[in-house]
Amino acid sequence: MRDDIILKCSECGEENYITTRNKKKHPEKYEIKKYCSVCRKMTVHKEKK
Ligand SMILES: [Zn+2]
Repeated sequence: MRDDIILKCSECGEENYITTRNKKKHPEKYEIKKYCSVCRKMTVHKEKK
């Protein structure tokens, strides 16, 4: 079972990335450092619920 998740910049709220994850392998919330084109820097991106 795959689940589409949206990764949202924690600083400006922009939805920058869409990815998939295996819920059984990774039940915890996604949190990853990625480049945000709005903030123009690396920021923490969090899973949008
Ligand atoms: Zn941002």
